[in-house]
Amino acid sequence: MHKRVKVCIRVRPASKDHAGIVINEQDKAISVLNEPNGNGTRFRFDDVMGSHVTQEQVYQRAAMEATESVLHGYNGTVMAYGQTGAGKTFTMSGGKTSFSDRGICARSIAMLFAAIKSDAEHSYCVRVSYIEIYNEALYDLLDFSENQQRELVVQENDKGQTSVKGLSRPVVETEEAALDLLFQGETNRTIAEHCLNNASTRSHCIFSLHIEKRAHDDSKSPVVSSKLNLVDLAGSERMKKTQVTGAMLKETMHINKSLTFLEQVVIALGDQKRDHIPYRQTTLTNLLKDSLGGNCRTLLIACVWPDESQNDQTIATLKFATRMM
Ligand code: ADP
Ligand code: MG
Repeated sequence: MHKRVKVCIRVRPASKDHAGIVINEQDKAISVLNEPNGNGTRFRFDDVMGSHVTQEQVYQRAAMEATESVLHGYNGTVMAYGQTGAGKTFTMSGGKTSFSDRGICARSIAMLFAAIKSDAEHSYCVRVSYIEIYNEALYDLLDFSENQQRELVVQENDKGQTSVKGLSRPVVETEEAALDLLFQGETNRTIAEHCLNNASTRSHCIFSLHIEKRAHDDSKSPVVSSKLNLVDLAGSERMKKTQVTGAMLKETMHINKSLTFLEQVVIALGDQKRDHIPYRQTTLTNLLKDSLGGNCRTLLIACVWPDESQNDQTIATLKFATRMM
């Protein structure tokens, strides 16, 4: 069968609670102990990473391939999925306390610039962008001007490449410059979070590295463009529509819709008989249109909280992850 998305599971450290899952890393399997007889429900994936797996190992085992393919001219997408608290932001952005805890974004930047430095045959232009999607609207996390929040819309050119009109995409010449913008974007995210009462768990954040590459010795050689999208998805916990009202209800409906259509798009891409892919249904899939399926490297890291009290969410996450394979 056509391989849609590479799916890896990452398990965060447990709280004090009983563990509700059993991992078998060798078999790439995870069982949720949801039955009194202890048999549980078993799931298998491309990789299962227990809580001892370090940030560096997560990068090597899961995300590095996508960064490499972007250097070869293919678009790539790495997405962290899971309930709030399961470790999505830790995986993508990293912990705040130590250098060894830095996440996939910083490591992709480092690897990219190291590869560029050692490539004497090509010249490169690297740009970065950082977007937040909240209630289907796009916000530019690298827009530091006073009068922010211009209307941003996704557009598509005749080659099928998508971009966002009016989005900041500054050129970065060095790893430090890219890390600096990543950091500034995260700060913007934190500020917005305080204003909107923790909205970042209810929004999708996408840090992208845009690369243009051309052969040195030939100024007429075509420029190859590619991009790597690093996506921290909104918390996947589904609140029942009957339990929330007002602003929360609106957010819930937008998140449910965007995660549902993300799944629908991935499933449609894997089905050769389907010619209609429902990209346009949501901002997220519309934006990622040129970076999912086809020649693109797409990776889903499903984050899991191993406490027994979280088992319902864990099962929901593992089922979603299974459908994406
Ligand atoms: P999410 O973004 O999915 O809501 P976070 O990434 O914010 O979850 O993680 C919740 C908390 O757990 C944070 O304090 C984070 O530092 C911690 N955490 C998550 N995953 C790990 C991990 N693999 N190792 C150490 N701490 C982790
Ligand atoms: Mg988060």
